[in-house]
Amino acid sequence: MTLTGNMLIGFSEVRGNDGEQSAFNPTTNSEIAEPVFGMGGTLEVERAASLASQAFDDYRRIPLAKRAAFLEAIADNILSLGDELIERAHAETGLPAQRLEGERGRTVGQLRLFAKVVRDGHFLAATIDRAQPSLQPLPRADIRLAKMPLGPVAVFCASNFPLAFSVAGGDTASALAAGAPVIVKAHGAHLGTAELVGRAVQQAVREQGLPEGVFSLLFGAGRRLGEALVAHPAVRAVGFTGSRQGGLALLRIANARPEPIPVNAEMSSINPVFLLPHALANRAETLGSAFADSLTMGAGQFCTNPGLVLAVDGPDLERFVEAAAQALSKKSAQTMLTPGIFEAYCAGTHSVAAVEGVTQVAHGVSAGERPNAAQAALYVTDAQRLLASPELEAEMFGPASVVIRARDVEELMAVAEDLEGQLTATLQIDDGDYADAQRLLPVLERKAGRILANGFPTGVEVCYAMVHGGPFPSTSSPMFTSVGATAIDRFLRPVCYQDLPDALLPDAVKQVNPLHLWRLVDGERVAPEAPGA
Ligand code: NAP
Repeated sequence: MTLTGNMLIGFSEVRGNDGEQSAFNPTTNSEIAEPVFGMGGTLEVERAASLASQAFDDYRRIPLAKRAAFLEAIADNILSLGDELIERAHAETGLPAQRLEGERGRTVGQLRLFAKVVRDGHFLAATIDRAQPSLQPLPRADIRLAKMPLGPVAVFCASNFPLAFSVAGGDTASALAAGAPVIVKAHGAHLGTAELVGRAVQQAVREQGLPEGVFSLLFGAGRRLGEALVAHPAVRAVGFTGSRQGGLALLRIANARPEPIPVNAEMSSINPVFLLPHALANRAETLGSAFADSLTMGAGQFCTNPGLVLAVDGPDLERFVEAAAQALSKKSAQTMLTPGIFEAYCAGTHSVAAVEGVTQVAHGVSAGERPNAAQAALYVTDAQRLLASPELEAEMFGPASVVIRARDVEELMAVAEDLEGQLTATLQIDDGDYADAQRLLPVLERKAGRILANGFPTGVEVCYAMVHGGPFPSTSSPMFTSVGATAIDRFLRPVCYQDLPDALLPDAVKQVNPLHLWRLVDGERVAPEAPGA
């Protein structure tokens, strides 16, 4: 496919004239000549938002089967892009082809999972409380609840997931599944990849005969376009993955609108890993090398990277550090996504290394002359130092982590209490550790969205029970997940219908149950075929 560098607004191709930008190859540290991308501004936001607004009522009311077929058509069209997509994404991000193929599989799998979620209809939360005219002291009206989409959603692509959290990634898939039109702002780190996937989505909108405003893809630099998008009155919710600073900026814009809107921002997390005493004694070496693998996967550019390891000090922890150091010493430096992310990684590691009482105990293979290549790093300090130095809790986005030596389990508990909100918390536990784990769990439940035992947090399964969310600053909305089937809930709201005639009710709560849903009727879960609902 010939890339044009043009935005896709509904069915139109629009050349942005608010500056130009070339894509960048971080491996060669040079611009990719073709094409040059035209950046959009407020005019393009206006056009995309207006189309999205016009499309909303039609799109949200198409049959669920058709909405599901649309999501599946996007998946098919992405696969049809073949190697061109992988090659372009590799050139723009430096991520290896194998990782990108895996990410494409996840992206397509996510779209198909949401197609299933849509067909199933459970997300509509159909609930019926039948009228009780003879109820004393007052009769009860007929009251029915079904969920509907919030309205057009603005999606900010993530730099670190050019496919799975970008143009047709988790935010877009869940918003489209909810029945919301989507306006995507591409990330400057992978503009060509964005155009390829954008065309796949646009083609699916056409093929399925949907209103053109269901999808638009915008390019914008210098933040003006992103700011205008969040501020636009037609936009009703935001999905974002990136820095804490960026997420908070969007949240401020959304809250300052005459009509504030929800921003689902996934921001920063250091994903503490607790090595409890028996597990450490029994498995220090295995844990050290598995930790090094998790830390360096994808150059550490995962929101679930294990950036903090905590254990009681002693010879077993020394064995762990020694094993991790040995494994890390063999890990090659890896190209990071952008020069900016590489510079932020170097600045982050320098500032941790500069904290008094912090010692660097391991590093990966040097990058030599390779541009933008991150060398892994491991630091050690004690629990009191961490408690006194909040900067040690800042996310170092990349393959670096800090090991915390605690005097005893009491001190581990104190550190756990001190932690900010996290996407994940991990426990390495053997049988003898259950009592300590039971004390830690209530604290970790308050702090994290996902608690793992005997694994490492990188690798987020896309499934029904997944939670990729958590208290601030890991996200701006701890009630939700951005990965997994229930990510759809971020873009829905309940509407209650009181005494509406059956013909005017949405299908989800009509008397005859035309969607064949499981429904909650007078407080009882009722199967589709059950009479009387
Ligand atoms: P970012 O700087 O937060 O940018 C993400 C997106 O939001 C970009 O499209 C950016 O637009 C936009 N944006 C940021 N600030 C904005 C503002 N004030 N107003 C309007 N739009 C704004 O994240 P990034 O570029 O992906 O990476 C930078 C750093 O974020 C990394 O070094 C890393 O520390 C962190 N990060 C964390 C995660 C995670 O999952 N925890 C993931 C990715 C990145 P522009 O490009 O036009 O500025």
